Amino acid sequence: MKNIFDNKYLNQKKLVKDHFYYLVSNFSELNQKQIDYLSINIVKNAQNYKAGSPFSKLIHEFSLTSNEGIVLMCLAEALLRIPDVTTINDLIEDKIPIGNWKKYIKNDKDLFVNISSIAFLLTGKIVEEKVEENKNILGKVVKNLSGPILRNAIKQAINILAKQFVFERDIKKAINFSNEKKHDKYTFSFDMLGEAAVTYEDSDRYYSQYEEAIIKTGKGKNPHKKSISIKLSSLHPRYERNKLDLLKKELFPKAYKLTELGRENNVDICFDAEEADRLNLSLFIFKEIIESKLIDEKYQGFGFAVQAYQKRAFFVLDWLKKYLNEVNKKINIRLVKGAYWDTEIKVAQEQGFIDYPVFTKKFATDISYLACAHKLYENDNVFSQFATHNAHSISYIKTLFKDRDFEFQKLHGMGDEIYSYFEKDENFKCRVYAPVGGYKDLLPYLVRRLLENGANTSFIHQLKTKDFDVSKLIQSPLAKIEKLDEDKIKKPIDIYGDRKNSKGLDLSEEDVVESFQFNGKFKDIKAYSLINGKDIKSDKEIDIKSPHSSSVLGKKYFADEKISEIAIESLKEYSLKWKKFPIEKKAEIFLKFANLIEDNTNDIIEICAKESGKSIKNSIAEIREAIDFCRYYSKEALNLFQTQTLKGPTGELNQYRMVGKGLSFVVSPWNFPVAIFIGQTVAALITGNVVITKPAEQSSFAAYYIIKLLLKAGLPSNAIALLLGDGALIGKKVINDKKLKNVIFTGSLETAKIIQSNLQQKENIPTFIAETGGLNCMIVDTSALTEHVVKDVVNSGFDSAGQRCSACRILCVEENIYEHTKHTLIGAMKTQKVGNPEELSTDIGPVIDTEAFDNINNHIKKFDKVFQTEINLNQGNFIPPTLIEIEKLSDLKNEVFGPVVHMLKYKASNLDQLIEDINDLGFGLTLGIHSRIDKTIDRVVEKAEIGNIYINRNMIGAVVGVQPFGGYEKSGTGPKAGGPEYLKRLCHEQSISNNTASMGGNASLLSEVED
Ligand SMILES: Cc1cc2nc3c(=O)[nH]c(=O)nc-3n(C[C@H](O)[C@H](O)[C@H](O)COP(=O)(O)OP(=O)(O)OC[C@H]3O[C@@H](n4cnc5c(N)ncnc54)[C@H](O)[C@@H]3O)c2cc1C
Repeated sequence: MKNIFDNKYLNQKKLVKDHFYYLVSNFSELNQKQIDYLSINIVKNAQNYKAGSPFSKLIHEFSLTSNEGIVLMCLAEALLRIPDVTTINDLIEDKIPIGNWKKYIKNDKDLFVNISSIAFLLTGKIVEEKVEENKNILGKVVKNLSGPILRNAIKQAINILAKQFVFERDIKKAINFSNEKKHDKYTFSFDMLGEAAVTYEDSDRYYSQYEEAIIKTGKGKNPHKKSISIKLSSLHPRYERNKLDLLKKELFPKAYKLTELGRENNVDICFDAEEADRLNLSLFIFKEIIESKLIDEKYQGFGFAVQAYQKRAFFVLDWLKKYLNEVNKKINIRLVKGAYWDTEIKVAQEQGFIDYPVFTKKFATDISYLACAHKLYENDNVFSQFATHNAHSISYIKTLFKDRDFEFQKLHGMGDEIYSYFEKDENFKCRVYAPVGGYKDLLPYLVRRLLENGANTSFIHQLKTKDFDVSKLIQSPLAKIEKLDEDKIKKPIDIYGDRKNSKGLDLSEEDVVESFQFNGKFKDIKAYSLINGKDIKSDKEIDIKSPHSSSVLGKKYFADEKISEIAIESLKEYSLKWKKFPIEKKAEIFLKFANLIEDNTNDIIEICAKESGKSIKNSIAEIREAIDFCRYYSKEALNLFQTQTLKGPTGELNQYRMVGKGLSFVVSPWNFPVAIFIGQTVAALITGNVVITKPAEQSSFAAYYIIKLLLKAGLPSNAIALLLGDGALIGKKVINDKKLKNVIFTGSLETAKIIQSNLQQKENIPTFIAETGGLNCMIVDTSALTEHVVKDVVNSGFDSAGQRCSACRILCVEENIYEHTKHTLIGAMKTQKVGNPEELSTDIGPVIDTEAFDNINNHIKKFDKVFQTEINLNQGNFIPPTLIEIEKLSDLKNEVFGPVVHMLKYKASNLDQLIEDINDLGFGLTLGIHSRIDKTIDRVVEKAEIGNIYINRNMIGAVVGVQPFGGYEKSGTGPKAGGPEYLKRLCHEQSISNNTASMGGNASLLSEVED
């Protein structure tokens, strides 16, 4: 399997040219005529096919790039689940006017006749006309007389749309329906709707549904080979590679049991393919099943889907050929192209992966599909199932497999026009993937289908486009091979254009997982202050302790007043030189530093985990943020420090430039011992200031290690002094110094106030940048998707054990969905593993020290309505994820820096008051909004006095240069870290006006002027 793992990010050009091209082109050349003939006939037949449902025509009508397509998606996604009339009205009112529905009616008379009863078009028409007259009338139209009618009509229309893709509501009905005469030509694989379980309760429910479906399908009268399709993500709430050990206990047995049930009931089992980061994990499960006694001559109905858009698909099939031969067993393989392409691209960019796990050219996916078909053809131990609606892919495969038994597969509600061509062919075999279930579980599936039907690259979409070019549509994908060199989708590392994205680690990959076997490199460590690049030992020797174990990691030596004084003096001497140090050279140092951090990622992860109790995942994110800070500030500084010549009268040179201020004091917190420490220090240095940097006492070793790297990168050793130790003692010494120009602080509000008052005593007015905490809220209205909300709350509230200033502290949920949200959230909290941060499977590590531990627990004790998950850990500062119900916002006064989320019920009609109350808390750091209604989102955004607002996503993990971070009021002074204004605050502006005519007159003017 190594060959599979190693090729996840293989270069797409290399892959296509080295592995696919000759295979496919040789076969194509020999069989071109036959393939073309079949393709053309399939398409011509499709053109004459009468669509059974008006909607199959309708959905093709709306391109996803059009407003109408997006509205359609949005309505379909949200409308069926919203419980209250007010929000349904708001959603309709919000979305319908966006579309120009009339355009479609004009375009196609038949379509209009067909869909005149379809409500949202009708509604759109009514509404649109009113909108043209006066936007406000719209509200009245929806809300007054016609409100209920419109509401029901639109709901009905969306229901019909959903019905297009859902086969039946329950398995009994599905079996009966599949037995109807009109389905004679097809066999079925029932898919029980539901995926991505968020709680154990969900996964148990889905599991029971699959059990029931297998048993009932087995008993059904249908004489054909029966089949059930299963999504592993529905069988466990944590179907992730880093949970392998847990999944071996909890998911593997379920997959095994369902296969066993398939065997007993003579039903084929096909496991669907999901996101790319789940491939290895699923292969481990499948391998175990294949090796078991379940698969033998009696039962060969086990199988799984392989996605040809993944670069590894070819290698999976290559491995299967050898492996199945070795074990001498037979299985089914369903070859699909893949349904999560947009997600894969986004994830790879966000995570900074070295490349994409999927192809970025549609034709490369198509070629891969054909190459994979060859691999299947070579494999006698596989029954091949080709799931595609693409006429060229079908024709190629039909030609290739002419002497072999195989089947095509199609999705219910799609591809009827394509496959109708074969209905008279005696040997034609096609299985319909038939989703079964209620609309509640339909949404993710429906969104994928709408995307597939609406995407411009989709074969089905193009087939429905008016006046399409048949020859282009059925063209071999090889015809575009020279376009492999085009680079329309930039590599994840290049998405920012003028600076490199930081490299991420793919935690679903085997070699990455193996690299986290920490081997005790950081034992007996020592952390010193650094002055002039030299370690400064002091009498204040203190143990470095892990927050999650009683072990002593080493010693740290804290600076006293004398050492602080020496440090200050050592910097003063160098201050002017550092100011004059060319900006290009400064940037070079920090870019080199960024690379050194990247090269030493694993060491830094280990340090973060051991010293600060940070989980591996959080440590990686933090290191990436630090690297981004270095690159972003370097780029910004290069621009900022260019001297500008300003326009003015002749005989004068007017220049404007930035210069460093001088001595700066950087004070960083323990919760981001790498990212904030580096971000603040680099910002101060690159703007030409010499820096005393003082990390939190708890993360002294990380700071020592990092500054050593910075010196290694070439920073002159007397531009920086690292002072480890007591904040008050060192702070007093530095702040009292006359030369102090900047203080950059991140930490508690209380300390920020002390620094502020100390600064007020000074004669000069140093710049003070403070980033403090927040009582951050997330507002959730009834149009939000509960599962999505819950994932984001778990992430925002409990990740990093809640020790982030941006963390969600108060979840404000509309009363109609409050209980359901609470129930699901509690279920999701139970899936979180609290424990040793050095283990990859840990979600939540310890809080930083015993003082924090006591404070948080004292806070929790004050409340009655508290839910906590159970943990069994007898040492370390562990606090389980905690949910506290509160009556009103004012029940909370201060930030609680731990894994504690408070939950508050609000009424939709009181939303404005809620926003005011949030503002009145006096903090203004982060705010989350979950709503599908733009009007509501706009209302909150306009009123909230909050620095960082996150819509329909989690509210942590601000990305440098993308989401500049920082709040107002009690949350900080601004400017935003990682934003365009930050560096400006740390340097002086200087204007130099030179009378160039003072000596020898204005010679240049005289020489410029002509007669
Ligand atoms: C029976 C059945 C079962 C299925 N099971 C699964 C499953 O388990 N898992 C799953 O993921 N999907 C599954 N699908 C969905 C399937 O992936 C899509 O229906 C399929 O991709 C459509 O392929 P096509 O040949 O019909 O369409 P085409 O339009 O020819 O191809 C669409 C493919 O091209 C890809 N594509 C689009 N743009 C680009 C680009 N720029 N670069 C690279 N690729 C691009 C799309 O992502 C998609 O994969 C199943 C489909 C069927 C019919």
